Amino acid sequence: MIFNKTNYNLSHKRTEALSDMAAYYADTYCPAPSPVYPHIIAEALELPYTLNDYGGSFDGYLENKYGNFHAFLHVKGTDNLYSPRVRFSFAHELGHFIIDEHRNALLNPSTPAHGSSASLDSHFEVEREADIFAACLLMPEDRLRKDLLLKNTRKPCIASLITEISLKYQISFTAAMLRFLHLDYYPVMIVCSQHNKLKWLRYSEDFPFRSLHLGPGNQIPELSCAGEYFADGTKYQGKTETVFAEDWFILFNNSDRRRELKEYCIYQESLNQVMSLIWES
Ligand SMILES: [Zn+2]
Repeated sequence: MIFNKTNYNLSHKRTEALSDMAAYYADTYCPAPSPVYPHIIAEALELPYTLNDYGGSFDGYLENKYGNFHAFLHVKGTDNLYSPRVRFSFAHELGHFIIDEHRNALLNPSTPAHGSSASLDSHFEVEREADIFAACLLMPEDRLRKDLLLKNTRKPCIASLITEISLKYQISFTAAMLRFLHLDYYPVMIVCSQHNKLKWLRYSEDFPFRSLHLGPGNQIPELSCAGEYFADGTKYQGKTETVFAEDWFILFNNSDRRRELKEYCIYQESLNQVMSLIWES
């Protein structure tokens, strides 16, 4: 079953509210065609920040000292305020600073201090909200829709579209993929699997299938590209593969079995993790 704790879809209404809030800050402080730079917004909002190599214990951290906030950003090597990872972490911390509920929670002395990592797969709702805020801030809805309108084709290659978005907005493919999903432009599902088991999944409201065809212990379907990676290490790096609906999903209608889907995998070998982006072609 998929309707368990691995399904972290936020409500549509909440996502919209976060997107509108992020767009307001992006358009006020970094109007198009400028890219959105979180440090410009932080300076305008008088939120001080420090960049340093913190040894990787966090990507970003928002400190509250007696009502005074300060953002700390982890940088390594040649990272700077313009690097995709740092921009995303900074935008995430700005989310905690700007979203009323987060800010109020941080002002409460009983809230534990928190560092955030830009893993995009947090189990905690506030972290998920800050990630969505960050993605919407760096890729504001109107700008993105305008770009996608120009590329309107009937059967788009979603992986190529997301690659273009990630390059234009200088953001990681994973962050662009998350943003694309929340835009509801084209129905997609993202399945994150680790050690051959389902870790989490997210999907557009109108994605046609829901129930993953999982094996014992939430094992990933063998005939999926992700399943192949866990079975024998096969990788389709940078390639979009065709799979069938029956490879991934429990189907209730025989005629759905051979519906063609596309799967594009992002491999995170150090974590033994695969993210599958799935859409119907
Ligand atoms: Zn956070």
